[in-house]
Amino acid sequence: MVPAGPDVRRSLSSKVKPDLRQSLWSIAVLAAAGLAIALVSIGVLYKVSVHQQGLRLLGMVREQARIIEAMAAHEMSRSAADTVPAGHGDAFEAVLGQLRAAQDQLVGLGQTGELYVARREGDSIVYLLAHRGFSLKHPARMVFGHERGEPMYRALIGRSGAGVLRDYRGTPVLAAYEPVKVFDLGMVAALDVSEVRAPFLRADLLVLAATLAFVVIGGLLLLIVTAPGRRRLRESEERFRQAFEDSAVGKLITGLDGRLLRVNRAFAAMLGYTVEELQSMDFQTVTHADDIASSVRVMNRLQTGTDGSARFEKRYLHKNGGVVWVDLNTVLLRDATGLPDHFVSDVQDITRRKLAEEERERLAHEVERRKAELEQVIYAVSHDLRTPLVSVQGFVDELRLSLKELLAELDRPDLPPEFRERVAELTGSALPESLRFIDAGTARMGALLAGLLRLSRLDRVAFQVEPLDMNRLVGEALRSLEFAAREAGAKVEVTDLPACLGDPMQVGQVFSNLVENAFKYRDPDRPLLIRITGRHEDSKAVYCVEDNGIGIAPAQQERVFVPFFRVDTRVPGGEGLGLAIVTRIVERLGGRVWMESEPGKGSKFYVALPTA
Ligand code: ADP
Repeated sequence: MVPAGPDVRRSLSSKVKPDLRQSLWSIAVLAAAGLAIALVSIGVLYKVSVHQQGLRLLGMVREQARIIEAMAAHEMSRSAADTVPAGHGDAFEAVLGQLRAAQDQLVGLGQTGELYVARREGDSIVYLLAHRGFSLKHPARMVFGHERGEPMYRALIGRSGAGVLRDYRGTPVLAAYEPVKVFDLGMVAALDVSEVRAPFLRADLLVLAATLAFVVIGGLLLLIVTAPGRRRLRESEERFRQAFEDSAVGKLITGLDGRLLRVNRAFAAMLGYTVEELQSMDFQTVTHADDIASSVRVMNRLQTGTDGSARFEKRYLHKNGGVVWVDLNTVLLRDATGLPDHFVSDVQDITRRKLAEEERERLAHEVERRKAELEQVIYAVSHDLRTPLVSVQGFVDELRLSLKELLAELDRPDLPPEFRERVAELTGSALPESLRFIDAGTARMGALLAGLLRLSRLDRVAFQVEPLDMNRLVGEALRSLEFAAREAGAKVEVTDLPACLGDPMQVGQVFSNLVENAFKYRDPDRPLLIRITGRHEDSKAVYCVEDNGIGIAPAQQERVFVPFFRVDTRVPGGEGLGLAIVTRIVERLGGRVWMESEPGKGSKFYVALPTA
């Protein structure tokens, strides 16, 4: 049996001893039970034997009594027939004589058996036959009714029977007693109880000796037979002990009541205690208050459920009060009868990882917060800058009108010709050109603000995600770009596209942006060819928009997805926001965007979107 809790603490190798002790106990109990059964059986046999021998003795005394009575009757009838008349006493003497002769030849009474006849004379018992303890020459006076000589007393008062009684010596005997009717005699046949008991005592001793031999031999055999097994067990336990003690991983054995029965050095070092200190504590004392309940739940689940092991993370408390995060792998061990006995756990210190995770989480939160703040600022800025921009544009229009009026005033004849010439010079080229620059500037700024607003709004609008028929959706996007395609002289090829999950408006926008970029960044030296393809990859649908345009240099490839980045700012018609918008949409849908490009050959923009 696996040792109960506290035994584990003493030594793992001590497991062997309880096993052996238990086996020896079993042998002893078995022997004791056998001994008890044997002794009880012998006791019963003894009782039966006493009963039967009593009956045999009784038969014998009855037979003898009847013979005496017959002899007496014969002697008395003979005396009556004789010429010389003989008295009652003569017949008695004749019978007595025959009895003495018979007594000498009596067999079947064993070594201590006796047959004797007595008569009552007043308050005395007078024995008429000499026997082992009684000499007729020196007769001892026996008092009638004394507890000594109980069998003869019973015969003399006319009772017949057998039993264990005290004889004339005061010794317990198995005696049969019978009255002899003719001369008021009593007859007793008796055997010493010690003789009756002797064979049974011998049997008892034999059984005792056999049981003792059984225990000793059984124990020795058990020791011999189990010696190799115990040696192997000891060796394996020694190996286990070493693996336990020397492991770099924290290891501990916990009782069902939570006591730390055994811990290794690595675990003790993890918590800053000595092994001895920890082994006098329970797990609750060294567990973080917030994790005690969950640990208890796991322990209960292991005891009541079908799972033999559990892995979970928890916090211990270091001796210095600090928190120690651990990854705990616990196994419940059961005893030979299948009952839960103790837990064995492997403990890995994951404090560093946990702290790093906590820090990462904190930073991620911080980034999210900052991002939200920034988006708020972008939204406010892009929105609020529109107002002054619109007024600048309005005043430019006013200026243009005023200029027109001013030019009309120049036709007045009263104006000096030099003045007219000078004003015509200014209003003819410099002023309208300045106004055009302001127009272009405000238009560009307006476009930038619009793009910025679109980008910041992307995070606010709710997406309606649904299964998308991409052949239909891309087809519609291309139809709305037909004019631009014709202008760019582009040829667009679309293969069969797999379906995906997404918001139809936003995904349409993604493909429009990519195709428009292909138009914008085409190579003037060759006709533009655009191919849109798609395939399944894992649980994603991966689409590719490929062109044979000017391509992008490797150094710029990463940056094209950054808002406002443009490879060549001289190329008209872009704010550097298209790919940033594409990225934002696809990522919000749980997808990914990437590209491959070779300058002078063309680019491939990949979009992966979820399918389920
Ligand atoms: P833009 O409004 O300038 O087109 P984008 O974010 O769409 O902004 O693109 C960023 C930059 O990436 C572009 O200015 C361009 O230099 C480059 N680019 C985008 N698409 C392509 C393409 N298909 N071929 C070559 N260069 C491209």
